Amino acid sequence: VIASLLVAPEDIDVSWSDIAGLDAVIQELRETVVLPVRHRDLFRRSQLWRAPKGVLLHGPPGCGKTLIAKAIAKDAGMRFINLDVAVLTDKWYGESQKLATAVFTLAQKLQPCIIFLDEIDSFLRMRGSGDHEATAMMKTQFMLQWDGLMSSANVCVLVLGATNRPQDLDKAILRRMPAQFHIGVPRDCQRQAILQLILQSEQQHPSVNLKELARLTPGFSGSDLRELCRHASMYRMRQFMREKLNTDESEFEEDFPGEDQNYQDCEQ
Ligand code: ATP
Repeated sequence: VIASLLVAPEDIDVSWSDIAGLDAVIQELRETVVLPVRHRDLFRRSQLWRAPKGVLLHGPPGCGKTLIAKAIAKDAGMRFINLDVAVLTDKWYGESQKLATAVFTLAQKLQPCIIFLDEIDSFLRMRGSGDHEATAMMKTQFMLQWDGLMSSANVCVLVLGATNRPQDLDKAILRRMPAQFHIGVPRDCQRQAILQLILQSEQQHPSVNLKELARLTPGFSGSDLRELCRHASMYRMRQFMREKLNTDESEFEEDFPGEDQNYQDCEQ
């Protein structure tokens, strides 16, 4: 099961060049996490330089937390265990306690290694009376294993959590993740950089002005911007198909129904 969640660094499909507008936080993450792993002998000279065993990325959805987690693993040459919370809590319910132990054992064998927990809040949210016994035992086991990691100076395993809801994590968890990074909704100039990256290999009409487009999209996440560009390119694709196919309108409508309603917004 765990092998299916494991990715070798060379197979990770994201690197820093796939992330735009986050240069400052990337620089900080490289110093805090990547360099101490890549240059372990050098960084061992000071306790203060050691890579943390817990890092939290928090911020709204679609702003690049998962991209960053993968890029860290690739840059640092770390194996990446993408610990899908659903697998732990649903499929392996009852046995998930054993699975939690197995994950840490494997990570130590394969170190340097990242254990990535997306939506860590739904897995390790404030422990309380609502927990089923099996869930509570699994969390306890996870925490025990994590503590074991903290006390072994030479083990290069990092628990990397991502969440949209840091306020739902209890203090015990937050304490284990001393390095915390906010990945917020992009500002104007960041949106422009993201749009540039998304469209870098696309043909653009000479009238396209990315600075203006960035100004007109406050509140859009990187994921929203990608979706906006996809919709706009679909609109162009429909025009292209019309010109190319020169088909009967009704036949064409079967493949591309609802043209006017669906694409009006993009045209604007
Ligand atoms: P969630 O909290 O929903 O898991 P997330 O913060 O982990 O979201 P990602 O999965 O990293 O977000 O990003 C979703 C998609 O949005 C990416 O695959 C990418 O296409 C785009 N994206 C988001 N932020 C950026 C960015 N800074 N640069 C380039 N693309 C971005």
